[in-house]
Amino acid sequence: MKNTNEIQNRMFADLENPAIFEKAQQYGRKYLDEIFDRNVYPTEDALQDLNNFDEPLPTSSSDAINVLNLLQRFGSPATVATIGSRYFGFVSGSAVPAGLAAKTLATYWDQAPAMHVLSPIGSKLETVVEKWLKNLFNLPDRTVAGFVSGTSTANFCGIAAGRYRLLQRLGWNINDQGMFNAPKLRIVTGKHAHSTVLKAISLLGFGKSNIEWVAVDDQGRIDPTQLPSLDERTILILQAGNVNSGSFDDFNRICKIAKDAKAWVHIDGAFGLWAAAVSKLKHLTNGMEFANSWAVDGHKTLNTPYDCGVILCEDQEAIKSALHMSGSYIVTSEQRDGMFYTPEMSRRARIIDLWATMKYLGKTGIDEMILGMHQRAVQFATEIKKITGFKVLNHVVFNQVIICCENDVLTEKVMRKIQEMRECWAGGSVWQDHKVIRISVCSWATTPKDISRSVQSFEKALVECQ
Ligand SMILES: *Cc1c(COP(=O)(O)O)cnc(C)c1O
Repeated sequence: MKNTNEIQNRMFADLENPAIFEKAQQYGRKYLDEIFDRNVYPTEDALQDLNNFDEPLPTSSSDAINVLNLLQRFGSPATVATIGSRYFGFVSGSAVPAGLAAKTLATYWDQAPAMHVLSPIGSKLETVVEKWLKNLFNLPDRTVAGFVSGTSTANFCGIAAGRYRLLQRLGWNINDQGMFNAPKLRIVTGKHAHSTVLKAISLLGFGKSNIEWVAVDDQGRIDPTQLPSLDERTILILQAGNVNSGSFDDFNRICKIAKDAKAWVHIDGAFGLWAAAVSKLKHLTNGMEFANSWAVDGHKTLNTPYDCGVILCEDQEAIKSALHMSGSYIVTSEQRDGMFYTPEMSRRARIIDLWATMKYLGKTGIDEMILGMHQRAVQFATEIKKITGFKVLNHVVFNQVIICCENDVLTEKVMRKIQEMRECWAGGSVWQDHKVIRISVCSWATTPKDISRSVQSFEKALVECQ
């Protein structure tokens, strides 16, 4: 059949050409085969080669295989091996193979689970995983979930739901009446709140300078004795997993106070909420079920592919109202329409990777995998402490280890050296006014051997810097 134009003919030909998709699979396969042995961070040459992408938009179409080849040749070497076993920067998960494979299949489906009518499979899996998460985290049965790009967005959604509900109780409809002249709400959070919480507060019109900051203890946990008195105008934001120390706020104690005061409690649990799914670690999250909304990532501790975050909220009406949209062409149904729980209308069906990862691991697999990350972190701390010149500054309660050398200058220098060596990758942070190197064990693939090898790299770097 001859078609309307040349580009359409070419694309039909591309679709029929098995070589194009096979190439993509083959390159991907090769990437995975080499992931544990390659340099964790791109070499200087690889970074230089990125300049090959600098060109104006091509005037005419090109060969699909050439497009892939360009990515393989100059893109692949400039990737950071976060999917490997010795990347300890930020809090970056790897990807469970079953989830990665499911994502590959779902790539071909290219579903948009905004509405049930647009993607029945997406809608079904969102319904199923919502139930799974609720049970796994022991949250109230009325809890609903929205599947978003990450915890940045999930924090935004949870705080937006709180804003809607508290103002509604005060007789103010935020959607119709807006923020100007609204009854004043209070934002209370710990001094170590994550930057994305602050971003959400700005985006939602509260203003960062209006935050009532609560002092934290030496592990970064909110000091409950320092809480200001809370009331029905307060949104309180707590943390499961301090981004530096991995510590958890005392939910039992704080949520009870907040509940009695009728405040809204949101928990930023990007990576830490998963402790609730680990029998030996769940004590860290005791009392979290008394909050109103929870933000958590799949792409960190659970090791789903990026981007995968979840907002959980026990107040369905609040979250749906906060994120509400309508239009004459919108077809809602008795079934789940995912867009009512997210800021976006169209989004990718990240639920497929999340479902596949959870289906594959099961409860015991999740428990074992995450406990393993904790054990590797403890191992890292134990081994690094034995080397004169390194100090561990936090209690390793979860997967984070904070390390420093004798002084800030040396710490910085050693960190740069470790990064240059590319045997592993760890980033820096500031902890109690000191520069630190931060280790986050967040990959299913990290073995005790990887830890020892990385500690050796730390030791070598220190020797070279002294
Ligand atoms: C990573 C992180 C976030 C942000 O999550 P994204 O998925 O990157 O948007 C928020 N809070 C904490 C504690 C985090 O570790």
